[in-house]
Amino acid sequence: FDTARFGQHILTNPLVAQGIVDKANLKPTDVVLEVGPGTGNLTVRILAACRKVVAVEMDPRMAAEVQKRVLGKPEQKKLEIMLGDFVKADLPYFDVCISNTPYQISSPLVFKLLSHRPIPRCAVLMFQREFALRLVAPAGSKLWGRLAANVQLYARVEHIMKVGKGNFRPPPQVESSVVRIMPRDPPPPVKFEEFDGLNRVIFSRMNKTIRAGFKAKGVAEMLEKNYRTWCAEQGVIIEDDFDIRVKIDTILTEAGYADNRAAKMDVDDLLK
Ligand code: SAM
Repeated sequence: FDTARFGQHILTNPLVAQGIVDKANLKPTDVVLEVGPGTGNLTVRILAACRKVVAVEMDPRMAAEVQKRVLGKPEQKKLEIMLGDFVKADLPYFDVCISNTPYQISSPLVFKLLSHRPIPRCAVLMFQREFALRLVAPAGSKLWGRLAANVQLYARVEHIMKVGKGNFRPPPQVESSVVRIMPRDPPPPVKFEEFDGLNRVIFSRMNKTIRAGFKAKGVAEMLEKNYRTWCAEQGVIIEDDFDIRVKIDTILTEAGYADNRAAKMDVDDLLK
């Protein structure tokens, strides 16, 4: 197997596999999306607890392996394989997502799940330990940052269990953790790209004031360009003496956040 290319570290500890599936609190009516089923150690346990599994697998040899495992069994009819790259896949309807995927696709995985509509009820996902800790970091803590802020706007996130290297074949080089993501329903009425755009500005200097973040090189120019595009689309007329720096300052001062620091702001502050 090309373990490097596909990140194929098979989860061999049955207790951990069952623990992951149990944490998803599956209902018999659920459709479950599994990303990267591999040889199917999670898949067979998910199949036992739900109505249908859609599994997205990039490696045809792995897809064949998991299909062989249910061949001729009643579960065969409940399993649908989508062959291809999850990051590019057009996802069908699903209630819950469960995955142990290569850690290279951790960020795209999280954001693809959170931007899917209808928003899934829950996701139980295996990640590299450091990534998991950054996801669940509370506002104001050492690991709080753009990643946590982006995810926690849309979901409650919990660290469920630590999983050591010895639970995989071949063992990976890093420690792992399982995280549960419970999306807020309804999702907050903010476009992800816009919220992330704000977070890019203020978290790149998260220990400085918000005002300082907006004064950084290139930020005012970018905002002016976006603002002019927006005005053109909305039919808003821009005055001749318009100065984006004055506008930024007025907005930050009116909101009362000019002298705050992103490092100490929570999701509600950021939303305001
Ligand atoms: N879920 C299995 C388990 O727990 O034993 C396999 C885990 S292995 C870490 C990751 C699996 O994801 C492999 O089967 C690999 O081929 C597949 N994979 C890697 N990149 C993928 C991608 N972009 N889209 C879909 N599957 C992918």
